[in-house]
Amino acid sequence: MPRPIQATIHTQALAHNLNQARHHAPDARVWAVVKANAYGHGIERAFAGLRGADGFALLDLAEAQRVRDLGWRGPILLLEGVFEQRDLELCSRLDLWHTVHCDQQIDMLATHKTNVPQRVFLKMNTGMNRLGFAPGQYRSAWTRLNALPQVDEISHMTHFSDADGPAGVARQMAVFDAHTADLPGERTVSNSAAVLRHSLSSDWVRPGIAVYGSAPDHPANTAAHWGLQPTMTLQAKVIAVQTLQAGDTVGYGSSYRADGSMRIGVVACGYADGYPRICPTGTPVLVDGAKSRTLGRVSMDMLSVDLSALPEAGQGSTVTLWGRAANGAVQPIDEVAAQAGTLAYELMCALAQRVPVVVEP
Ligand SMILES: *Cc1c(COP(=O)(O)O)cnc(C)c1O
Repeated sequence: MPRPIQATIHTQALAHNLNQARHHAPDARVWAVVKANAYGHGIERAFAGLRGADGFALLDLAEAQRVRDLGWRGPILLLEGVFEQRDLELCSRLDLWHTVHCDQQIDMLATHKTNVPQRVFLKMNTGMNRLGFAPGQYRSAWTRLNALPQVDEISHMTHFSDADGPAGVARQMAVFDAHTADLPGERTVSNSAAVLRHSLSSDWVRPGIAVYGSAPDHPANTAAHWGLQPTMTLQAKVIAVQTLQAGDTVGYGSSYRADGSMRIGVVACGYADGYPRICPTGTPVLVDGAKSRTLGRVSMDMLSVDLSALPEAGQGSTVTLWGRAANGAVQPIDEVAAQAGTLAYELMCALAQRVPVVVEP
């Protein structure tokens, strides 16, 4: 028998969350962002839930190929554009739209041999300082692109650094608007936080994390607040029970010490499954759908949970590390991420290869 650990991808929840994003930007077309293997969900596993999107946005040409292999004929956008000249051939072959964020990419287009002009998304750096042309150089980049026979429609794109926080999007939006106002073409600006928090629309919006059921602005707001449902559940079983007396300790480093007698469950999930080792004692879990907490250090293959208040629980009980329990109770992944000092993005992406995954219709 395989280890009793399993991840579940919730197809309905993906579709629901995609609709929530649509609801906040009703006039926009929606890219479902499926980079990083659909935020760790698996592109093939997430596809059924996301096929209602207007397009798929990602970074990796191999992932674009996988989306085409699933039969998707609609738009696919490469969010970082091409990395080398021959990628443009694949763009032609797979009919990919691609971001142009630097002069080198324009150079590559200029020498690309094709009869079919490509649709590009010209990216402006409005303050994130990651990718994109400086506002002052944007127009000349556009003019250069616009003169190329290899280029079809040119759309405009930027990415926000603070859509999830107090600084917001106004400053970057003003820069973007000022430098694109009189240029023709569609626009795409919003990630999940900009869609949900700022109801900021454009021709295309680009929600990622919200589609996967995590609040982009946790802890200011929760996934439940935004009406988002978990799309990934990580569950494992209790494989041993220990009874402790006052002074007994749990796990490596004896970091947890019992105050009095208590029962603990040892769960078949550890950091080698993608559960963060840094999660301290007290990180929330559900045991058979009831609230509990972790105790002591997370080890490679196991972690311990408190069963003291759960007399019915024991060997064979199902522990929900994040996601939805059988009784419908939810352990928000955002709460686990917060305990680990990180974001749900990282936890989802770090789900380990060795965890078996099932797709729930
Ligand atoms: C990842 C990414 C997104 C999606 O961001 P979320 O915060 O997950 O919604 C949108 N646009 C670009 C350019 C990205 O790289």
